[in-house]
Amino acid sequence: MRTTRLFAAGLLVLAGGAAAAQGLLVHNARGLTLDERGRVIRFDALQIGADGRVQAIGRLTELPPGDLPRLDAGGRVLMPGLIDAHGHVLALGAARRSLQLRDTADLPAALDAVRSHAQSRPQAAWITGGGWNQAAWKLGRFPTAAELDTAESARPVWLSRVDGHAGWANSRALALAGITRDTPGPAGGRIERDAAGEPTGVLVDAAMGLVERHVPGEDAAELAASLDTAERELLALGITTVHDAGISAAADQLLRQRASAGQLRLRIYGMARGSDEDFMARLRASGPVLQAGDGHYTLRAVKLFADGALGSRGAALLAPYTDAPGTRGLLFRSDPELLAQMRAAAKAGFQVNVHAIGDAANRQALAGFETLAREMGARSTALRHRIEHAQVIALPDLPRFARAQVIASVQPTHATSDMNMAEDRVGPQRIQGAYAWQRLLKAGATLACGSDFPVEEPSPWAGLYAAITREDAAGKPVGGWYRQQALTPVQALDCFTRSAAFAGHAEKDVGLLTPGHRADFILVDRDPLTASPAALLKMRVLQTWVGGRRVHALDP
Ligand SMILES: [Zn+2]
Repeated sequence: MRTTRLFAAGLLVLAGGAAAAQGLLVHNARGLTLDERGRVIRFDALQIGADGRVQAIGRLTELPPGDLPRLDAGGRVLMPGLIDAHGHVLALGAARRSLQLRDTADLPAALDAVRSHAQSRPQAAWITGGGWNQAAWKLGRFPTAAELDTAESARPVWLSRVDGHAGWANSRALALAGITRDTPGPAGGRIERDAAGEPTGVLVDAAMGLVERHVPGEDAAELAASLDTAERELLALGITTVHDAGISAAADQLLRQRASAGQLRLRIYGMARGSDEDFMARLRASGPVLQAGDGHYTLRAVKLFADGALGSRGAALLAPYTDAPGTRGLLFRSDPELLAQMRAAAKAGFQVNVHAIGDAANRQALAGFETLAREMGARSTALRHRIEHAQVIALPDLPRFARAQVIASVQPTHATSDMNMAEDRVGPQRIQGAYAWQRLLKAGATLACGSDFPVEEPSPWAGLYAAITREDAAGKPVGGWYRQQALTPVQALDCFTRSAAFAGHAEKDVGLLTPGHRADFILVDRDPLTASPAALLKMRVLQTWVGGRRVHALDP
């Protein structure tokens, strides 16, 4: 087992007391990490400097003698904290803090849940949430405003249906929205009414906007609470860095404050919302935020959209949908329009991360990156541009990722959630280039793995499982969906650590536990490289450490 030291690390002094003040020696661990070249290294002791960085790994007897405080890992597996290369931190917190009715068995149970949630939030002006499904309740009809009033009548309540295509309002919300028997249903929407023509409380599709426009956006206190909620959950799952795929101006303000006050525990690598023109103009003028708050907050990427999603047939395909021959989806922008957005962001020094699902959208984004490379040369490629999702790719386009040095940011659990739907949409030919991780790797592309939480569950263990098995959590289909595209355990770990760090310009900082890297590590109850895939889903994260500081403990 090799031992390495980095003497220079001891010279760095950090402000704010963010790191373990005197350093730390973790011993009696079953340590594992990848090295800079992606090879597996095992060790039993980890020495952390006062700067919160790894000084040495190896056998305890080989480490430099010193008088550091010690932590006995109790024979647990010690590994790098995981990186989710595509998630939505504040949206996760908001989803967790809002009322969730998905698991309610019947209408009375749902009304109980609304009542207790409303009581727990005496300050909230509106009670919002979602996940209800009258079919699961065996109700045989939509629920009503009058029923919702029995749970909360003083304040407006607005609850979206499980599919997002209908909303349920109480009487106060209907009144605030001015919805009466005389309100016409808007084009593309419907107001549910009783036999007398009175609105009953449920609004379908475009009619939802009648209430939604009155629901206030999250204020600063709500955002902060959502951040706290999400941070706790993510750290407890063993995630130490998230690439947030849609930082709003308000979120940026909150994260800058938290970072400068030394109050961020998770590391967040932000992609600014490219659709917010005012925010973009300010960022182009100010340039990126690099490693604020001792590397806890970075904003050096811009998120742009080329198309929509596959499920709703909003993804842009080169040829018609297999299951809807009348449509091929839609590109959000013309080639010159998207290129202009990409160019403006790159010229201001930002990594450009384009959401692209369909093969037409991926081709449009690749062509844009190739143009930037021609125009700007290494000034563009050094920014390590990315395609977010990179889901359906025409086979001839696969080598363009490596040639244009574009990273494919993929979400393994999307493959296992989408598998049946995806093949319906694109058919047996195009599916060959869909979720095609091994084809991308063989074509020389760098993959970075994430989850797209809260669209999917944030658990990186579910992500590793999906990456390795291409099976859903129930083990279907047996043997995996297009199993040849599955990642090996080492490739999957790489995708959630070393390569994800690279995709966030942080491969010298995080993702590995070799000397010089920040001491972002977790103690877990099984070895992800040797555990059976099913065991990965039961992984317990006992402790999480960020920058040499413990930020989560299962049994404190
Ligand atoms: Zn996303």
